[in-house]
Amino acid sequence: MIKFLNLREINRQFEKELKEAASRVIDSGWYLLGKELNTFEDNYAKFCDAKYCVGVANGLDALRLIFKAYIELGIMKKGDEVIIPANTFIASVLAVTDNDLIPVLVEPNDRTYNIDSSKIVSAITPKTKAILTVHLYGQNSIDDTMLDLCKKHNLKLIEDAAQSHGAQWKNKVMGSIGDAAGHSFYPGKNLGALGDSGAVTSNDQELINMVRNLANYGSSKKYEHSHKGLNSRMDEIQAAFLDVKLKYIHKDIEARRKVANYYLKHITNPLITLPKLLEQSGHVWHLFVIRLKQRDKLKDYLLENNVQTLIHYPIAPHKQKAYKDLNNQSYPITEKMQHEVLSLPISATLDVNKLQKIVNLINTFKV
Ligand SMILES: *Cc1c(COP(=O)(O)O)cnc(C)c1O
Repeated sequence: MIKFLNLREINRQFEKELKEAASRVIDSGWYLLGKELNTFEDNYAKFCDAKYCVGVANGLDALRLIFKAYIELGIMKKGDEVIIPANTFIASVLAVTDNDLIPVLVEPNDRTYNIDSSKIVSAITPKTKAILTVHLYGQNSIDDTMLDLCKKHNLKLIEDAAQSHGAQWKNKVMGSIGDAAGHSFYPGKNLGALGDSGAVTSNDQELINMVRNLANYGSSKKYEHSHKGLNSRMDEIQAAFLDVKLKYIHKDIEARRKVANYYLKHITNPLITLPKLLEQSGHVWHLFVIRLKQRDKLKDYLLENNVQTLIHYPIAPHKQKAYKDLNNQSYPITEKMQHEVLSLPISATLDVNKLQKIVNLINTFKV
């Protein structure tokens, strides 16, 4: 079986260093808010070209904390609107609604899968305070249209960079282009911890100080609580693991690009629409997502032939039971895409024999 993602194989590449890191943390007797976290925060900020980084418990919290911090700073308030791509993972929407902000969904472009910036302007109202743009599947989602709109309407640009560690646009790195960015180090992400972890990056010191305070019980000084915060911290052991893996992330990105280029070059089945690579974008291929009408049939056919694929995502947020209040909204492009997208295996450990097998199966697939 070619698994969609083999985490055991991926982490085996760094096994010796990961075990050394674990031993170091165990022996230190210090498990939270210590030097492993400081080191990782510094290194990850540098990696993103951002001034500051705060490690938090997971990617959802990273995004939630950004909005909560803007509310505490008086820049946003309950009932304000945030523009989000309709086809994102539900966490992006949860981060907004958890803060009593209103999600305003906007359709994606059906080739890049990212928010269609030409459709943002008609979604802006006097209550709009931010765009939460998602670099979905690993490709940059920011463009000049979006930046101009943010300037013109005084909107905060927040990046959901959960799937895009190291992705670039015009030589800038995701996570430092907007006003703030939320990152996830969920094990299956390109930079994955061995458990949950996340981070906020920004060049805005005031925002970062507030995020750090809120993530630690609303406290900047032990037992003094200036805000009603939460407990969302990155464990020392995860910071130590992530610092090991961060050293190899550029190698990982290169390997993913090789796999993606192989797919782009060799998948020739006319039933299939391949993902579109934008100009000036450094795609990091968290997912390689193809589209076809006969998606479910191809998925079954691949599985019968021992190739596992996944769907990102089978149900759009506005169609989820959790968002009954959004169920009657209609986003035809997003709804069509949820029936057509299929994610092929992609990782640094996928060798060319396996790739050949996958591509041959796809090219011989008939309806
Ligand atoms: C994974 C992911 C998140 C949430 O990250 P967690 O660490 O799982 O909480 C948010 N947004 C997107 C687009 C994601 O893919």
